[in-house]
Amino acid sequence: METVVTVNSNQVQKQDSRQNETLNLLSSTQSIIKEAVRRLGYNDAMYELLKEPLKILTVRIPVRMDDGSTKIFTGYRSQHNDAVGPTKGGVRFHPEVDEEEVKALSMWMSLKCGIFDLPYGGGKGGIICDPRSMSFTELERLSRGYVRAVSQIVGPTKDIPAPDVFTNPQIMAWMMDEYSRIQEFDSPGFITGKPLVLGGSQGRETATAQGVTICIEEAAKRRGISIKGARVIVQGFGNAGSYLAKFMKDAGAKVIGISDAYGALYDPDGLDIEYLLDRRDSFGTVTNLFTNVITNQELLEKECEILVPAAISNQITRENADKIKAEIIVEAANGPTTLEATNILAERNVLLVPDVLASSGGVTVSYFEWVQNNQGYYWSEEEVAEKLRKKVVDSFERVFSTAQNYQINMRLAAYMVGIRKMAEASQYRGWV
Ligand code: GLU
Repeated sequence: METVVTVNSNQVQKQDSRQNETLNLLSSTQSIIKEAVRRLGYNDAMYELLKEPLKILTVRIPVRMDDGSTKIFTGYRSQHNDAVGPTKGGVRFHPEVDEEEVKALSMWMSLKCGIFDLPYGGGKGGIICDPRSMSFTELERLSRGYVRAVSQIVGPTKDIPAPDVFTNPQIMAWMMDEYSRIQEFDSPGFITGKPLVLGGSQGRETATAQGVTICIEEAAKRRGISIKGARVIVQGFGNAGSYLAKFMKDAGAKVIGISDAYGALYDPDGLDIEYLLDRRDSFGTVTNLFTNVITNQELLEKECEILVPAAISNQITRENADKIKAEIIVEAANGPTTLEATNILAERNVLLVPDVLASSGGVTVSYFEWVQNNQGYYWSEEEVAEKLRKKVVDSFERVFSTAQNYQINMRLAAYMVGIRKMAEASQYRGWV
């Protein structure tokens, strides 16, 4: 009996701390928005408009499971601001999805679209589920059920979903098919990150990692660090982390650490990335094949020139920011560094390239995919890569020079750049 009570209270505590973490994500996002709005010279009404999403829909999705039972899943779709254009952003399938997190994620999408000058506002969706323990057919029914539940507020000119944590081109294909059936016409521009044969774009699969790679190059240039021979640590081995490790290795860097949800691998002489890529599963798990595994926290504190958190939120905090030895941190994940840690790192002169800049390669190529769907004419891999590079280099420069001009860190600078267009569009529309 006592054991049961202990387990329950631990679970409650874990849930509470997770809720606190996501509330923190939202409130620190709001405090940076407030500061950025103030520095841009807008009034309080503008902050009031931007501090929360304009719309959030909660849905309950009944799914027939393979064993004949029915499970009800909870999902969300959040639309932060559609002054510039339709909202845009991924859908994540994860047991720790919650409303506050989806809200914050949709706000970050607005910033990403603003920084990269894409004709969108930010959106985000999520379903509380664990796809690692679901079958292919259960996932298909869940994906289709989600689209039916949110169909009235999404669409190619309203809100355009995409992949995110634990969702992939197959899930996008089911969602696109369901939406097209509801509408009774083919709607490839409803969703991005589709398989190539269904109107996906060349380069979308690797786009996030390409964007991070270009940001690393730009940051290294400004710090006088050569990528060749630089020691790189990548936390996370999912879509972004695994491709990034490969791109860094191909560029001549020494990738000395990688990790997944269960632990980390570290070798000061450099890891065999091809070997690890061959063995990772579709959720990016690979450390279970090894015995000499260290923890994610230990990995973050190892000596290196470039550190890339490419896993989940709240990894670099007040507790460990002082122990980080990297000279450059480039955030491939959404929200890996807390606001307090951002300030500690800035004081220590660590160059931190924030998530809303570094992880925007994905949504940028999603935009290219949507443009190609709308025009019905498709670009080569080289054309996509060239257009992406230009967007990332220009955006990096805009944020970097704003940080220098205002003598502020790159996160606040990125928020200022990201907010500008959506604030102006909201004003023209007469909202504030
Ligand atoms: N989920 C990705 C992100 O957080 C991509 C979104 C998109 O392609 O629309 O940026």
